[in-house]
Amino acid sequence: MHNFIQVPEGTTLLDLLGAKRELPSIGKKSHICASCFKPFNASRRIAGHLRTTSAELFIPVIFIYPLCRGCAEQLKQGGKKEDAVLAAVEKFINGEVSQ
Ligand SMILES: [Zn+2]
Repeated sequence: MHNFIQVPEGTTLLDLLGAKRELPSIGKKSHICASCFKPFNASRRIAGHLRTTSAELFIPVIFIYPLCRGCAEQLKQGGKKEDAVLAAVEKFINGEVSQ
């Protein structure tokens, strides 16, 4: 028995943490969808979350952002629709959208 993990050359910290266990996550309460920026209310509820991180972080963590149903479905479709959601959430993260 041992607790060593073999680390192939070129392995990043993110690779290692992802393989070993779930990264710590940080969620931010928001009253708007992180992609379309529309407010959540009785008819527009949180339907999913974008879980994301950046390889440039010194300490890797997962950031969790709430999405409405339409944006959560776009994210699942992949391709250009997924890219559009990710670009919009990046604006949200960078504070380019008032929250
Ligand atoms: Zn949305």
